Amino acid sequence: MTRPFPRLVKKFFLTLLVALSTGLGQVSLTEAAQRPFRIVLDPGHGGADEGTVHIEPTGRITEKDVTLILAQQTAKKLRSHGFEVFLTREGDIDLALSARTAMANRLKADVFISLHMNASAIPGAKDAFGIETYFLNSTSDESSKRLAHFENSVLGGSPKSPDSPEELDVALILKDLRLDANLSESKRLACHLQHQLVQYTSNDPAEVVATSPRNRGIKQALFYVLLGADMPAVLVEAGFLSRNSDRNLVLALSGQQKIASAITAALERFRTLKGTQQAKQVVSTCKVR
Ligand SMILES: [Zn+2]
Repeated sequence: MTRPFPRLVKKFFLTLLVALSTGLGQVSLTEAAQRPFRIVLDPGHGGADEGTVHIEPTGRITEKDVTLILAQQTAKKLRSHGFEVFLTREGDIDLALSARTAMANRLKADVFISLHMNASAIPGAKDAFGIETYFLNSTSDESSKRLAHFENSVLGGSPKSPDSPEELDVALILKDLRLDANLSESKRLACHLQHQLVQYTSNDPAEVVATSPRNRGIKQALFYVLLGADMPAVLVEAGFLSRNSDRNLVLALSGQQKIASAITAALERFRTLKGTQQAKQVVSTCKVR
């Protein structure tokens, strides 16, 4: 029986490795300034991994189909506003979680947004509705942990997944070291997205976003799909497939366009404020649940 390589020793060597390699992987400031703002949208799940499923007498509604439609509508809207957009998948295909951020890294994207739908079948979310946006961090919140467990569950037991627990451990350590650079911008991105999504999808124009019952908040959890990202990265749960009102919203073209417009407005704001005092204010005043 071999003793596992002590985490601290591993961390030391990986620190060295990252210190040596980060300089090579960075996008130069001039390169980033000369090209359009680049977004990678990730429609959650795909192929054999359907995500959450809602059964209706007329058929099945799967999270993987809804996230793809939302990503396609959002991409169209973003492109019309001058953003450069790539989707991690264009069809119903299997795609490992690690391949999604790997693509964003390869493209040197400015942000990575993974789109998902929630379900009340996830323990702790009975009768729930509304929107929540996550960025990567450790959490002590039980319902966030359960959701992350559900979204990460594709890793467990899939023969196609190259992501072993050992790789996950190494990835976590590597992310530890890079996290600081993107943590505050990931939080800011989550804040802009959450605010605009609640506002745009509200039926009541006078509704205050902060106190809206549909605002389930900005949260943090260890989502594997965000782990490998070298840029600000968030995961949006755009509503509950298990809830009529939320489901009707994402299935209707008008609702999809509201979500697309909200994400576009949030990214306009994110891009405009970058590096300003106002950006710091957003991060310090935006509450994380
Ligand atoms: Zn999902």
